[in-house]
Amino acid sequence: MTLVDLGIPGIGRTAKQLPLMPADEQAGLDPYMATIVGYRKSGLSLNHIIGCPLDCGYCVRHFWGNFDDKSPHLLVPTEQAIDMLITHPGFEPHVTPVQVFNKATDPFLPGVKPHLFQVLTALDERGYTNHILVITRFKITAEDMAVLESLQHLRVTLLLTYSGIRDERIEPIAKSDITLTSLRTAAAHKQRTAVVLYWRPIVPGWNTDPATMAHVLDAGRDADAIVFTGYYHQEANDAYLRSLGVELPFGPDDYHRRKTMSDELDATVVAAWRASGINTPLFRKTSCGVGYAHGAADYNGHWGVPGLCDICPAKQQRRCAAAHTTPTPAALDAVLGRLGFTGVPYRIDEGHIWVSGLTEMQRYPIQHLLGFQIWNVDSPHFDGAHGRSPLGHTIGETDLAAVEAAKAELTLAARYEDD
Ligand code: SF4
Repeated sequence: MTLVDLGIPGIGRTAKQLPLMPADEQAGLDPYMATIVGYRKSGLSLNHIIGCPLDCGYCVRHFWGNFDDKSPHLLVPTEQAIDMLITHPGFEPHVTPVQVFNKATDPFLPGVKPHLFQVLTALDERGYTNHILVITRFKITAEDMAVLESLQHLRVTLLLTYSGIRDERIEPIAKSDITLTSLRTAAAHKQRTAVVLYWRPIVPGWNTDPATMAHVLDAGRDADAIVFTGYYHQEANDAYLRSLGVELPFGPDDYHRRKTMSDELDATVVAAWRASGINTPLFRKTSCGVGYAHGAADYNGHWGVPGLCDICPAKQQRRCAAAHTTPTPAALDAVLGRLGFTGVPYRIDEGHIWVSGLTEMQRYPIQHLLGFQIWNVDSPHFDGAHGRSPLGHTIGETDLAAVEAAKAELTLAARYEDD
């Protein structure tokens, strides 16, 4: 299918295809950046376009040496990428949540948008009802919304990243109100498309004064949900931000592979939301906001995680509780077998399953296929931290004992290679 066939308003015949990245340049990419279909917690991710000019100072592309790549390039043609997605072993029609262009570009950049719509149309034409997550901070027009609204089957969620940060060194896009305008446009035209205000990153001293928090919450007044989260504090983006003279409230000892959101900051955010008077529900987890916005239970099984659901609407809590079923060993074995992980040691606990020797990318498809949390004994979750960096959380002795018990039971298996 070509873009002309799609009949997308404003794109059609004059749309320019992005250039393919030369093979020698692709060979030099970090393996993570070169991965076209990979698993993330919020879904199976399709990323066959990399390169972004928006220059957000905290961008995760710093981690993989790709931040200086400002022009979007295709890694493979979009038709091929679609095929790679739907033939991936972790893809289950109607079940697997999918993210499009969530790693290395913005899906609504002018050159990228035709490819986004091509992917969505191709999946929708197959009748798939999967969740589709599209994360952007760029311009969304009424015509764009008409394209999204024309889809018949996919459950599309637009997650509009808006932090309220006004420091252009951190977010150059902050000098315009592009994202706020996009939020308003999306909210005004949504019927079957869900719209989530993605409030991130929240960093003490950057955007945590009461006026900024109230402003962001007000921006989410007409969204279906607000999801809030912290900032990835790692050496590469720390060095970049400091080189610009930006002050961070964290030091080198605080680097962590998970996002930072202390108990105190979590409480501040929740209090600001309660005080705001808006009716939009607030969520700590992306999949919770996405599920709620489509009238569905959370697909990551967070109902099994203590302390996450206290801010969730009662109706949604009932929905998640009803959908939350502890897998039988037979059901788990079947999923492990399907994904090629037969023999991986596991322990089924209340609210989660411990495994050993599986990477994040390998655990997430199990989690999505079962709707149940899959935890690794080598990188455990602790009560209250909710899968975040331990900075600013108190870890109880009971939690440590539970991890040790699980570790003792599971023999460490050889790590499986990422697919
Ligand atoms: S009830 Fe809990 S798991 Fe379900 S959407 Fe709400 S916060 Fe998430």
